[in-house]
Amino acid sequence: MYHGIRPGWIEVIAGVMFSGKSEELIRRVRRAVIARKRVQAFKSHLDDRYSGVHRISTHDGITVEATPVDSAAEILRRVRPDTEVAAIDEAQFLDESLVTVAVTLANRGVRVIVAGIDTDFRGEPFGAMPALMAVAELVDKLHAICVVCGDPACRNQRLVDGRPAAYDSPTILVGGSETYEARCRHCHQVPLVDERQGRLFETAPPSARAHPRAR
Ligand code: ADP
Ligand code: ZN
Repeated sequence: MYHGIRPGWIEVIAGVMFSGKSEELIRRVRRAVIARKRVQAFKSHLDDRYSGVHRISTHDGITVEATPVDSAAEILRRVRPDTEVAAIDEAQFLDESLVTVAVTLANRGVRVIVAGIDTDFRGEPFGAMPALMAVAELVDKLHAICVVCGDPACRNQRLVDGRPAAYDSPTILVGGSETYEARCRHCHQVPLVDERQGRLFETAPPSARAHPRAR
């Protein structure tokens, strides 16, 4: 927990699905309410799992009321002048101007708590999350449990019809038939990358193998 004497800072809760981000966000919101702070919660309207768009929900069914928004700018329009704590869930689905919005609110004296998935199904930085993690005063990176081996999980495994989704499938697939699992780095599979890396290992010198983008 970050405690500045002067109000206004950014806290980021990052991690994979099932890592407990919403639980942690709700815990902080509840404590702020107990401390009689004026709190507003927001979430991307893209995520309407479990209980509809007006609530932040955990996978275990705990909820807090939230205003659904289409864009980061809408948060700035809807935040009340006397709000002391702004909580934002599913930040990875909002546009990258969320960084400017969070900084603007924090500079204005608002405690901004942002929760979001930090890497997409490919294992690459997701939306505004990496920049938010850089400008925040406090970053907590949470882990789930890998469903394959039981280690701490830091990757979202996308499965389509039960098989690992290819690298070139779209980043956001709302309402699709896919499912997700929490997995560790070693159990995470992204087929096209794995194939490309296989070819790389046959031909390239060690220095070019480090990252698929390094070619
Ligand atoms: P997030 O917001 O990060 O998706 P939630 O707060 O909604 O996470 O849910 C976290 C809860 O999900 C855990 O407390 C646990 O009960 C449940 N859960 C289900 N699958 C897993 C898993 N593979 N690893 C850890 N927790 C899991
Ligand atoms: Zn694993």
